Amino acid sequence: MKAMLMKGPRQPLQMVDLPMPKPGSGQVLVHVHACAVCRTDLHVIDGELANPKLPLILGHEIVGRVAERGEGAKRFQVGDRVGIPWLGWTDGTCRFCRSQRENLCENAKFTGYTIDGGYAEYTVADERFCFPLPAIYTDVEAAPLLCAGML
Ligand SMILES: [Zn+2]
Ligand SMILES: [Zn+2]
Repeated sequence: MKAMLMKGPRQPLQMVDLPMPKPGSGQVLVHVHACAVCRTDLHVIDGELANPKLPLILGHEIVGRVAERGEGAKRFQVGDRVGIPWLGWTDGTCRFCRSQRENLCENAKFTGYTIDGGYAEYTVADERFCFPLPAIYTDVEAAPLLCAGML
């Protein structure tokens, strides 16, 4: 698949061919239809957020369709449209997760920062952190809502 890859801070993204990601347990493979650009993407590129995954595929305002389901992933059907936001994974066990404040998880992983994001033809995501999207929004309209539109 084609992807825009960040090899290090303060370097232009490079278009590269990468192997298709494989959805792991509880994950879905998503064919990306749209991925909006956020100010946070620029913070990551500028090296203002510490310790990004490298090399990294940026982008955390993703709209696409489920192309494949990993083992045990049952929440969505192949072909379903989903949105993928910044918060990509939480441990479910820390004091914040146990008090329904998973957005503050001490071990959280973030899409397009500590896990690969949506500036690519495909991405994988934990199905628990994907959203079904109402049909009233086009892909392009829905994408920025995955970050700025989050409550
Ligand atoms: Zn954002
Ligand atoms: Zn946690």
